[in-house]
Amino acid sequence: MAKGPRGVVAVTGAERGIGAAIARDLVSRGFTVAVLSIGARRPDPGKLTPAQRRRLHAFACDITDEAQAAQALAQAAKLPGGLVGLVNNAGIQKDGPSHRFPTADFEAVLRTNVLGTFAMCRLAHPHLVKQGGLIVNISSFWDRMGVKNQVAYTASKAAVSSITRSLAVEWAKDGIRVLAVAPGYIETDMNRAALANAKIQAYIAKRIPRGKSGVPEDIACVVGALYDTDMAFLTGEIIHVDGGQGIVH
Ligand code: NDP
Repeated sequence: MAKGPRGVVAVTGAERGIGAAIARDLVSRGFTVAVLSIGARRPDPGKLTPAQRRRLHAFACDITDEAQAAQALAQAAKLPGGLVGLVNNAGIQKDGPSHRFPTADFEAVLRTNVLGTFAMCRLAHPHLVKQGGLIVNISSFWDRMGVKNQVAYTASKAAVSSITRSLAVEWAKDGIRVLAVAPGYIETDMNRAALANAKIQAYIAKRIPRGKSGVPEDIACVVGALYDTDMAFLTGEIIHVDGGQGIVH
């Protein structure tokens, strides 16, 4: 169903993967999307109509560069409807055995996934506070798991989920809701090579109750639905979208 302009949602790391699918989904629901990416590139528009494509705007934004991020959000807020949302999707993963995991790699993961996510929330606050808004942080279903060789990434996503709860409580009085969506295995550039491994495929067939990994659109439709309806009493929750993998015994 076509809908009129509904304000601007900024999506970080939205030129590919899950972020790109979220950007397309939000545009198809009538939102204007500020695609915040390092290269200021718009995602593949897929099946979007020419009119919908015109509501995808790209701005340069490395989320670890606060000055650039502030500028990108200020530009996004000037688009028709003003800023009504922020999706913190940009993230990186570095893996390796913990007994020799380099401090520099740990720092890099925390700088992007934790400090970058928090900085974006803080920088978006003055824009969102004007008309209220919704922040959705992309965490991971590993936010509450022990995972071999993933010490930095799992710690970073536990922090993203924790930041979500704290900001939800602190900013409720400002009319800002803060949620996290925590994906399970979704095939993207981040893990395509790993997911192609026969052993991992056999593991997934056994471990995910529905027997297969997800696609970016499985996450995008959940994020889109959160923006589509005013779920005024829902905040601070971490919504796990993992085909049941995180709860199966
Ligand atoms: P991809 O690697 O395909 O895409 C990640 C995106 O983040 C890229 O566009 C990348 O930009 C961007 N990015 C990385 N660092 C920065 C930065 N400093 N500033 C701005 N953008 C940046 O990953 P996914 O689409 O798979 O992941 C998206 C989110 O979902 C991540 O937070 C990830 O942790 C999370 N997630 C993914 C899962 C999966 O199975 N795929 C599972 C659970 C969570 P560039 O193109 O310039 O490198």
